[in-house]
Amino acid sequence: MKAFETKLPDGYVEVKTVDVKNKKIAIAFNLIAASTIIITIVTAWFSMFGTQPFAMCIDKLRSDNLWHDMLRLIFFAVVSVIYIVLHELTHGLVYKLFTKQKLSFGLTLTAAYCGVPDIYIYRTVALLSLLAPFCVFLPVFLIPIFFLPYYADKLIFSFLLGMHVGGCVGDLYDACLYLFKLRDPATLMRDTGPKQTFYRYVEETNVDKSV
Ligand SMILES: [Zn+2]
Repeated sequence: MKAFETKLPDGYVEVKTVDVKNKKIAIAFNLIAASTIIITIVTAWFSMFGTQPFAMCIDKLRSDNLWHDMLRLIFFAVVSVIYIVLHELTHGLVYKLFTKQKLSFGLTLTAAYCGVPDIYIYRTVALLSLLAPFCVFLPVFLIPIFFLPYYADKLIFSFLLGMHVGGCVGDLYDACLYLFKLRDPATLMRDTGPKQTFYRYVEETNVDKSV
């Protein structure tokens, strides 16, 4: 399986770009991410407490020891930051395994990213890299929710799960493009990190830029 091209081959046309530095896209992705976190937290809350009074729920979330509550919050903050780094490294690992090319990592105001800017990647490798963090971290945050004994921990992992799924919105959007619109395995993607550009092979005589 050929993983990538170093130059865009003849007969390819640009059909789509997804750029998180574009204001509209950044706002849309962040709104979806925030909604995902809220939906996850609300679902977890009602699954744990039903319609019990709010004050009673807060009591159940608190432990007897203030230090334990503080440690929980510190754990949550540390795991959130580590997760963002590991998410990008997971994209990078797949890119590196299949292409051995130089990666680029970075941050925008609203997103972290990893790309492989110097090459054009075929659909299969692009899909593997796009979906890798989603698949790896879904069980990491989901499974503890069912097994942790304390409500506070269940809620923290629900938040992390929402943050994870919401944070994958760009990756999942790109994956959906591949699944529903760019189904040709010859489709190429250039991923600079914040921006993915998709190229489709078209017959020289039938140049159609629509997707
Ligand atoms: Zn990602």
